[in-house]
Amino acid sequence: MLRKLLLWGSENAFLTEHLAGLAFVQRAVRRFMPGETSEAGIEEAVRLSASRITSVLTLLGENVTEADEAAEVARHYQGVLEAIADRGLEAEISVKLTQLGIDIGPDVAAANLESILATAEERGQFVWIDVESSGYVDRTLDLYRAARSRHVNTGICLQAYLRRTAGDLAALLPIEPSIRLVKGAYAEPPEVAYPRKKDVDRNYFELAKTLLDAVRGGGVRAAFATHDERLIRGIEKEAAERGIARGGLEIQMMYGIGTARQKGLAAKGYRVEVLISYGTAWFPWYMRRLAERPANLWFVMRKMGSS
Ligand SMILES: Cc1cc2nc3c(=O)[nH]c(=O)nc-3n(C[C@H](O)[C@H](O)[C@H](O)COP(=O)(O)OP(=O)(O)OC[C@H]3O[C@@H](n4cnc5c(N)ncnc54)[C@H](O)[C@@H]3O)c2cc1C
Repeated sequence: MLRKLLLWGSENAFLTEHLAGLAFVQRAVRRFMPGETSEAGIEEAVRLSASRITSVLTLLGENVTEADEAAEVARHYQGVLEAIADRGLEAEISVKLTQLGIDIGPDVAAANLESILATAEERGQFVWIDVESSGYVDRTLDLYRAARSRHVNTGICLQAYLRRTAGDLAALLPIEPSIRLVKGAYAEPPEVAYPRKKDVDRNYFELAKTLLDAVRGGGVRAAFATHDERLIRGIEKEAAERGIARGGLEIQMMYGIGTARQKGLAAKGYRVEVLISYGTAWFPWYMRRLAERPANLWFVMRKMGSS
């Protein structure tokens, strides 16, 4: 119930306008976000690299409705890719197609994505594509397929809570994709997504095994993006049984969540990547983080009393 309320809040314009300005909310969000600028994100990525952790940078914001604004987002990412290269940093980026203009038209988002991918390819960098709410999945998969036919340096997210994902994964494998597997962060109806956590977890594990088989077969990159310790342990075991070396197993987590675990996994030799979000449009994203773990609300409450 609380999860649903928080996800509702993530889409509420009144709350976005009024709560995001409160100082204690801003203090609380810092736990998940080093700062609002890409420079702050890059500085954090440099710090994480000392622990053998690579980063994925992402600009917060979604559902852009003006073509100029979408093009500006693409230019922003090109600048970030250049800054990453200038620092000699091993870091990737992750983009949202609604921020690149998919609501204006798939061709707008495709052109913006193409310019980002071309910049990344010149520098040997990698671009992830987020998957948003279920109404965008078909369009996102279509754009990914088209992009992947021109560039190898791109990957797509798949969400284990969606009933359709096993089919989507099977259809993608022949194009040798890069897949980031997540549970899924949006409010979805039960016809579309498994409503029970145990079914989502079960599906995640089944999909993970399919992906590990594909990784062993070669040509496919898989990143398991989860903080779920039980799942990670299961994936570690399955990977070892398939003879996949630790350096060939990739775990992604969010900045500020499971920090000790991230370092521990990196020290054991696994490939660990941390998603660093930045930007001013953090409110809907932050509400989704609270919805994933409503206990985080206590942390926000505590910040009410601190300065
Ligand atoms: C790198 C990365 C990229 C992602 N990209 C997308 C995307 O493109 N599309 C999409 O829909 N979703 C995306 N997500 C979010 C994802 O769908 C989940 O909502 C999120 O990862 C939480 O699920 P979980 O797998 O950690 O499992 P859960 O079962 O939610 O959590 C397992 C445990 O992890 C810890 N935990 C999880 N979330 C939090 C939190 N917010 N605060 C504190 N502790 C927490 C808790 O200890 C919890 O018990 C991404 C996540 C990551 C890590």
